[in-house]
Amino acid sequence: MDYIVDVLNRKPQGGLSPYAEALTRLMERLKQCGGNLKKMMDGDPKLAKTVAKVCVTRWMVEPETNRTAYLVPQPSWRQIKKRKLTPGQVDEMRPERFAALLFHVGTLNPEWEKLAGPCARCGRYYIKKRASQKVYCSRRCGNAATAVERTRQKLKQERNEKLKQAGAALRKWRKARTEEPWKTFVSRKTGIDLRFLTRHQTELQPPKKGR
Ligand SMILES: [Zn+2]
Repeated sequence: MDYIVDVLNRKPQGGLSPYAEALTRLMERLKQCGGNLKKMMDGDPKLAKTVAKVCVTRWMVEPETNRTAYLVPQPSWRQIKKRKLTPGQVDEMRPERFAALLFHVGTLNPEWEKLAGPCARCGRYYIKKRASQKVYCSRRCGNAATAVERTRQKLKQERNEKLKQAGAALRKWRKARTEEPWKTFVSRKTGIDLRFLTRHQTELQPPKKGR
């Protein structure tokens, strides 16, 4: 499972690796199906076939005791040879096959449903530590996101407060018989930056020429 998370998070030079991309596509599709594997596979029989056939199991005797056996999943790479594809074609399909293989093996893992992501802050996939952990990969990301949200709220509040002040000053300007342009008047009365007033002209509804 750690390996799957690792592949999903591979980002060489800023972009996702072709393997991460292919596997991410499968994870996104599964998410759209609400995690329902049957729904996902019924909706795409071709994919279902690829995932089902990408891996074969090999029966092996348990070497410690020689009394029981187990199944080892193995990629069915031989199929590629059988179909006599050119190296280019093999390369082209490799990320998809590789993703299908990881998907196949991943779904067999009892921890499969703990795989979650991408994290709402850092965009990485992760293994859930608690069932409730649905949005952020870690407490660190959760806390950081809360801090960002708090700052955003604070800025918004400050902005609204400034707009209120500017609005009040603008009303004064309307009554005052002054040749001073509204922006400099409002800025002088409130101490609000001229750029702020320009940026929020539409909200402030400044008077047209001739008031
Ligand atoms: Zn995160």
